[in-house]
Amino acid sequence: MQNLTILGSTGSIGTSTLDVVARHPDKYRIFALTAFRQVDLLFRQSLQFKPDFAVLLDEAAGVQLRALLREAGSTTEVLSGVDALAQVCVASEVDAVMAAIVGAAGMRPTLAAAKVGKKILLANKETLVMAGNVFMDAVRVSGSTLLPIDSEHNAIFQGLPRGYDGDMAGSGVRRILLTASGGPFRNTPLSELQNVTPDQACAHPNWVMGRKISVDSASMMNKGLEVIEAHWLFNASAEDIQVVIHPQSVIHSLVEYVDGSVMAQLGNPDMRTPIAYGLAYPERIASGVAPLDLFKVARLDFVEPDFERFRCLALAYQALRVAGTAPAMLNAANEVAVAAFLDNRIAFLSIPYVIETVLNTLPVEVVGSLDDVLLADARARNIAQQYVLQLSK
Ligand code: NAD
Ligand code: MG
Repeated sequence: MQNLTILGSTGSIGTSTLDVVARHPDKYRIFALTAFRQVDLLFRQSLQFKPDFAVLLDEAAGVQLRALLREAGSTTEVLSGVDALAQVCVASEVDAVMAAIVGAAGMRPTLAAAKVGKKILLANKETLVMAGNVFMDAVRVSGSTLLPIDSEHNAIFQGLPRGYDGDMAGSGVRRILLTASGGPFRNTPLSELQNVTPDQACAHPNWVMGRKISVDSASMMNKGLEVIEAHWLFNASAEDIQVVIHPQSVIHSLVEYVDGSVMAQLGNPDMRTPIAYGLAYPERIASGVAPLDLFKVARLDFVEPDFERFRCLALAYQALRVAGTAPAMLNAANEVAVAAFLDNRIAFLSIPYVIETVLNTLPVEVVGSLDDVLLADARARNIAQQYVLQLSK
């Protein structure tokens, strides 16, 4: 029996994780569920999964949930505040942590879990983008098992030799091919992109996801963040990672070897596959995902990405090459810009301008510690907010 903490249990990844867990009550027990302030959903999840702890970031929401659970006769203890998120990750009872909070907010509790050697199922890519070296050092020092849940990285993990230790050349790996759907605007005329709405940006052709990552998919910043994520997970340089647009989202990524072999992982686009893989690793369990019907898929297409259309992807490659605090600044600026777009304060096409302004304004520093990352993140948010204000006047 494995005891799990799910950070972000009310989100898209969180609910998919609980869907898989519910299929295997003999294998998994929930120790803690956490959310931002979704009282109703966390209440229902707590009654169903009976965790020891339910955590809400928001104090007032915590008070509400505590009252509801008490009334329902539940023994789940309710905690709130940012420290409680880390507390339910490091507790000795916890075997594995699903890191599925969206954005920079996921970094502290995920890092706390890594420092004490928990098995980490990593969906929160922003942790690696912001603080890749700090996080990977913590994983190495504590001996944590790190399992990528992002579908592409999960596919690459499956395509690499078992026990891969970050030595691409030594393992005979030539390149990583990171697939991307191209999002809802892959073929939209550039002149129409200026006026697209948040709902149009969030209408992903193949995946159902949270709103922030959906906008990132439409701008292809998501793929940019994933290039940086792959760099840290697999010790691959920017040159070793080729993005391939594959509109069907059936191949989730590929690993190319020096002998000409290319290993791909295929499946229906449903996050329960990588989640089940992470939960059961190194075994396999049923996930509830329908079998892939290749006759129905019929064809697979591949196109090179257009860096003019997808400027966010180019900016992410640039930040990875510059290194230091550049990826953290890119991520922070993107979070501010995406929130402003979702709030109808700036246009979709302004997102890369906000990011570029931040990258051109702030000096890049070396990352020695988490504090360096947090400072760069705060400075970048500040500049991005100012620029958003200018744009929305
Ligand atoms: P989501 O918006 O659906 O859910 C986010 C979760 O985090 C919710 O439970 C929310 O309550 C919680 N949360 C939000 N802000 C918080 C804060 N400040 N403090 C504490 N908790 C907070 O997001 P999602 O689509 O499930 O994505 C989660 C993460 O997984 C992201 O990093 C995303 O990039 C990554 N990811 C998602 C998918 C997907 O298919 N949805 C695929 C690959 C990777
Ligand atoms: Mg992905």
